[in-house]
Amino acid sequence: MSESNELRLKVSEALSKDVGRAFARMDPADMARLGVAIGDIVEIEGKRPAVCKVLPAFKDIRGQGRVQLDGISRDNAGAALDEFVVLRVTAHAPADRITLAPTTVTPTDRDLPYIGSLLDGLPVREGDRVRVTLFGSRSTDFRVVATAPRGTVIINPTTQLTISGPKGQKASATSGARNPVSYEDIGGLKPQLQRIREMIELPLRHPELFERLGIDAPKGVLMRGPPGCGKTLIARTIADEAEANFFAVSGPEVIHKFYGESEAHLRKIFEEASAKGPSIIFLDEIDAIAPRREGTLGEVEKRVVAQLLALMDGLSQRRNVIVIAATNLPNMIDPALRRPGRFDREIEIPIPDRDGRLEILEIHSRGMPLAEDVSMRHLADVTHGFVGADLQGLCREAAMLCLRRLMPELDLTLGTVPYERLATLEIRMGDFLAALHD
Ligand code: ADP
Repeated sequence: MSESNELRLKVSEALSKDVGRAFARMDPADMARLGVAIGDIVEIEGKRPAVCKVLPAFKDIRGQGRVQLDGISRDNAGAALDEFVVLRVTAHAPADRITLAPTTVTPTDRDLPYIGSLLDGLPVREGDRVRVTLFGSRSTDFRVVATAPRGTVIINPTTQLTISGPKGQKASATSGARNPVSYEDIGGLKPQLQRIREMIELPLRHPELFERLGIDAPKGVLMRGPPGCGKTLIARTIADEAEANFFAVSGPEVIHKFYGESEAHLRKIFEEASAKGPSIIFLDEIDAIAPRREGTLGEVEKRVVAQLLALMDGLSQRRNVIVIAATNLPNMIDPALRRPGRFDREIEIPIPDRDGRLEILEIHSRGMPLAEDVSMRHLADVTHGFVGADLQGLCREAAMLCLRRLMPELDLTLGTVPYERLATLEIRMGDFLAALHD
């Protein structure tokens, strides 16, 4: 029993294309130190142990004592970015059977072979979360509820898959179930994310650091930028990564839908967020709630601004709530909101540049079966001015056009499209270009 077969490494985010594959990318020198080769299975322990497959990291993260894990493996291992995990070699066996419980959408029987093919080669243990991207970018998470044999198993083409629970129906629509998002789902905003993480994730996760150093953790952060660039996505991601509760409030809704009860509604959300902390309150389109007071502002808006200011000020004793506000009109909001102790940090979320567009396109085409001729680089070149939401729309539209192109050949009288046929579907460059020119 040699102790040397353990290695402590710091967690970095994974490459976007690796998401869902349980890869642990590390410096080849660290692989040698641990005594593992490419494709070996290691146990990775943060708060809990997860299992991953070893691959070499690219040059830019070598020599730093780091291991790259995606959001799902980080979740399975109970480790956040920049935290330490312990890696060790672990015994494993081929999986005879595994049982999966859906967390969002329940697949039908006919999806099973397809799901199995997507999970082929994945190392899992009971309790792990795994992600499957069905045709298009509709991804679904499952929990591994049982494996045979027990312990670490590798899914292979002969593994018998079972879905637990009722089949063929959607998970309850009212449960608000959704897949958690992680940093790998956000494209082109690395420097902004780094700052936002320091401002929000760090104080939520480690309030004791801020207390000890005598610095005030921010209560409010203002994100400025055009619609569709990822402000909401970032807020949700930070909440998921920090394991915080997420409360979304729409500015116009507070004013209009809750007319007459706007302040009470805000108070209720702040109370609930404080009670359930750590929490993130996301105030979208804050300009609708808190426009400049000197203008021709009605009584309602004045009272709502005053209430919001009072609630922000009241947060001082509790460090477990952070309010993120988003606006496209930063000059329209009441300057009182931007004073120290309120929304005193600001961050610009810009329209993506070419490299940003490329990353976003890769994220949204991640689960798509792409033909050889698809060049995401070219698409990034010709989509100047597109924001993240537009690029997501482009990928969806290309998939729809592909479907329309193939429709005449598919024999839908059979009821369901056979798996062999599904496996041959491919989205071509022509589908993307046609979607672009629609
Ligand atoms: P905003 O809040 O800035 O209006 P959203 O976060 O609601 O924008 O963006 C809408 C959708 O567009 C997101 O759910 C996501 O699918 C996609 N999207 C936007 N920006 C990005 C990005 N930077 N990376 C990946 N996807 C993005």
